Amino acid sequence: MKKYKRHLITSALPYANGPIHIGHLAGVYVPSDIYTRYLRMKGEDVISVCGSDEHGVPITLKARKEGVSPQEIVDRYHAINKKAFEDFGIAFDIYSRTSGKVHYETASEFFRTLYDKGEFTEKTSEQYYDEEADCFLADRYITGTCPHCGNENAYGDQCEKCGTSLSPTELINPHSMVSGSKPVLKKTLHWYLPLDKYEPWLKQWILEDHREWKTNVYGQCKSWLDQGLQPRAVSRDLDWGVPVPVEGAKGKVLYVWFDAPIGYISATKELTPYWEKYWKDKDTRMVHFIGKDNIVFHCIIFPSMLKAEGSFILPDNVPANEFLNLENDKISTSRNWAVWLHEYLEEFPGKQDVLRYSLCASAPEAKDNDFTWKDFQARNNNELVAILGNFVHRALVLTNKYYDGRVPERGETDENDEATLNEIAQLRENVETSLEAFRFREALKEAMNLARLGNKYLADAEPWKVITTDPERVKTIMNIALQITANLTIICEPFLPFSMEKLCAMINFREMSWENAGRTDLLAPGHVINKAELLFEKIEDEVITKQVNKLLETKKTNETSSPKAAPAKEMINFDLFSKIDIRTATILEAEKVPKTTKLLKLTIDTGIDVRTIVSGIAEYYEPASIIGRQISIIANLEPRKIKGVESKGMILMAEDNDGKLVMVIPADKVSNGSMIK
Ligand SMILES: [Zn+2]
Repeated sequence: MKKYKRHLITSALPYANGPIHIGHLAGVYVPSDIYTRYLRMKGEDVISVCGSDEHGVPITLKARKEGVSPQEIVDRYHAINKKAFEDFGIAFDIYSRTSGKVHYETASEFFRTLYDKGEFTEKTSEQYYDEEADCFLADRYITGTCPHCGNENAYGDQCEKCGTSLSPTELINPHSMVSGSKPVLKKTLHWYLPLDKYEPWLKQWILEDHREWKTNVYGQCKSWLDQGLQPRAVSRDLDWGVPVPVEGAKGKVLYVWFDAPIGYISATKELTPYWEKYWKDKDTRMVHFIGKDNIVFHCIIFPSMLKAEGSFILPDNVPANEFLNLENDKISTSRNWAVWLHEYLEEFPGKQDVLRYSLCASAPEAKDNDFTWKDFQARNNNELVAILGNFVHRALVLTNKYYDGRVPERGETDENDEATLNEIAQLRENVETSLEAFRFREALKEAMNLARLGNKYLADAEPWKVITTDPERVKTIMNIALQITANLTIICEPFLPFSMEKLCAMINFREMSWENAGRTDLLAPGHVINKAELLFEKIEDEVITKQVNKLLETKKTNETSSPKAAPAKEMINFDLFSKIDIRTATILEAEKVPKTTKLLKLTIDTGIDVRTIVSGIAEYYEPASIIGRQISIIANLEPRKIKGVESKGMILMAEDNDGKLVMVIPADKVSNGSMIK
């Protein structure tokens, strides 16, 4: 690999409309922090930048809902998140924000450079305009009736009922959420970044030159590139954001996806007057830590922007993670299904490292993973307490007991001593190899293997027995145990900074450079250590039960806050009912409808014919898992086109309070086309 002179580490800018939760931490901030701390300990020139992403429609919508200004919303969450990161020991060199002055200037200038170079295309389109409020309406600001399912509360970009993505002009009877009035179409001009122009270059740069990227990242990029890229608007009609710095662009701001990544540049500018060497020198290695939802922005769009600008370097790696679930359910801000960092810090004071440890140990590196409180407890009790804490405690207590806290001389060593001493350097190398490849789970395991090594060494050597028969021998044993302890402070620091700080104080050791890891003479004979204190304490069942109950409470609240059951519909007579032709059928084929998230195209055998039905169930059923399943359908519903596919009939689904769809199926197998009555 190329040898770089310095490193620029960026971590995804958290969106300032809510607090940080464990999903963010496991996906982005814990790994980025471990990596940064490791590089720092190696003595590399490294800076780590982050900040709040403070623009975009979700923030203006939240502000409107609460009756406050967008600035108030972002001030609130910027403060909460900045403090939570600090208290959690995430060692950014700067935590900035995109509503700051430097960012406005930087983003403006970036746009202007591309504009002056002729890198944008311009396009006039018709967009909904609210004449009463005198403003253009973002898609999310328009509601109306869904042309596909009749839902009266569909948004201008999507119907959340049937899952179809919409454009605002498709809505029947649209109205503005700002004033409630009926919007009119008005011409508006926007600037576009022609991503299609960068496609050949991106294919070479990612698919050929960066085959070493993580499989999940590489795969997602390939699929975007295979589908073909389209020009993407970089401006919006909105009054919250960085104004488009061009004459005649009043009321237009930079689209949030364009302005947010420039936030990394502005943050670096705020941090150091030498920011350009981190952004413009080919000897700088830039690494973006992000979650999987950000891959397209950091691998395709932002690099295209940087390429178009011309003077910036490109990321060398983008080690994106998948998602973390909580107790077998998707983490969700709106459903309050999360463990919030600021709450954890209050409820588990002094236990930052326990969360850091358990999130790193079960990080969603290659696929989505699950966080459970039981697992958290087990990681603490069976690993941190029983392995790391236990070893260190024994080494320190015995040294204090036998030698009054003075490191004893190492005498003659036997084969097992030598093997143990050699293993220290080997483990350092293993940790290093894993970290360099962004395999943090594996790195943590190797680091813990050093504590395992120490435990095994003491258990085999049994100094507490040997002390009565061969006190000279015990000096050697304790010397080796203490060298392992000193090595732990270095090798575990990136993962467990708070605990290793404590351990350093306990053994009076401060030479924590990575270079020293693997050495077997870190503590000289005669060096005085302090009394042992507990590094970790057991977490009792009732603490865990309390957290689990808190989540159960949330679940209950979510269930009761949605109405129990909708009121009965208007009475109909039997005649009308008998006109509805409900039948049993079997699914023969199932596939996702391209470019939709919720739709499946199903081929079904109705007993009468074989036909196609489009159904909004993709979030609840994997296509492969439902083939062969018997279902109930309305066979005589008039056909309609959904996303260009003609759907003939409808599958009967029961909709749960939280919107989950479940198939209504015959209790026993019956022949296809059986009447349901
Ligand atoms: Zn709909």
